[in-house]
Amino acid sequence: MLKFNYHSHSNFCDGKNSLEEMAISAIDKGLEYFGFSAHSPVPFENDFALAFENVDAYLAETLRLKEKYKDKIKLFTSMEFDYIPELCDDVQERASKYKLDYIISSVHLVSGNGLWFIDGSKQESYDKGLRECFAGDIRKAVKAFYHQTNEMIINAKPDIVGHFDKVKMHNKDRYFLEDEAWYEDLVLESLRTMKDNNTICEINTRGLYKGRSNDYFPQTKWIKEMAKLQIPITISTDCHKSDEVDMLFSQCWNDIKELGHKEVWYFDGSWKTTAL
Ligand SMILES: [Zn+2]
Ligand SMILES: [Zn+2]
Repeated sequence: MLKFNYHSHSNFCDGKNSLEEMAISAIDKGLEYFGFSAHSPVPFENDFALAFENVDAYLAETLRLKEKYKDKIKLFTSMEFDYIPELCDDVQERASKYKLDYIISSVHLVSGNGLWFIDGSKQESYDKGLRECFAGDIRKAVKAFYHQTNEMIINAKPDIVGHFDKVKMHNKDRYFLEDEAWYEDLVLESLRTMKDNNTICEINTRGLYKGRSNDYFPQTKWIKEMAKLQIPITISTDCHKSDEVDMLFSQCWNDIKELGHKEVWYFDGSWKTTAL
C-alpha cells in the first residue's frame, strides 16, 4: 500500500499545527507523498482561509520544507480553492501565479441570496443559511450546490474535487433522503461532469473520523457508481491536525477496493495510478 495525502491544512489557515509539524507527522506515519493545501484567500472577512498578505510566507515555507525533508518524503505545494461564481472563480490564474503543483477546488459556500455555508461543525448555521439564502427551499439549494460544483469542474479545472457531496453532511435525513430521484439525478449529473473532464474525485475520510458523517465524502453508493463510470479517485484525510495525516487511510484503501475500484491516483510530480 502506497501512502499519500494531498489535502491538508495548517495554522496558516484553519488547521492547528504548523506546516513543519504536519510534514514531520506525515514522515513518522510512513507517507511517501504529502501535499499542503491551505484554504485559498477569499475576498471577504472570514476565519478559515489563508490571508492574502500571508500567501508569500506560505509558499516560501512549503518550499523550504520540500528541500529540508526531500530525502524522507516528497512534499507538494497546493491550495484548496473555494469556488464561488463571480467572487472566487479565477482559480487557474491564481494557481499558476503561485506556481502550485496541483489544484484542489471545493464548494463550501453556495451562491444564492447571499452565501450558504454548508461546512463547519454547526448544524444551526446550515439551517439558518438555507432559510436566508434559499428561503428554506432545500431542492433549490442542493441543486445550486451541485450546479456550482459542475461549473467549478468545467471552469476552474481542478486536479481534485474536494469532498464532493458535503452538502449532505448537516442534512442528516432531515430535509431530504439521498435516494430521492431528484437528488440522485443531481449527483449523477455531477459524476458525469467529472468523468467528461477527467477530474479526480477525492475519497475524503474527514467526516467519518470527526464523527460528523456516517460515511465518506462521497458516500459509499457514489463510490460504487464511480467505479462503474471509471472516474479517477484518490484518498485524502483533509487533516487539520498533525495526528490526522493518515486517519482512516488504510480502511478507505480496503473499502474502495471492495466497492469495485481497481486503482487509485497519486501525484509524484505528475498524476499516476497504483493498483489497489
Ligand atoms: Zn474543504
Ligand atoms: Zn480541506
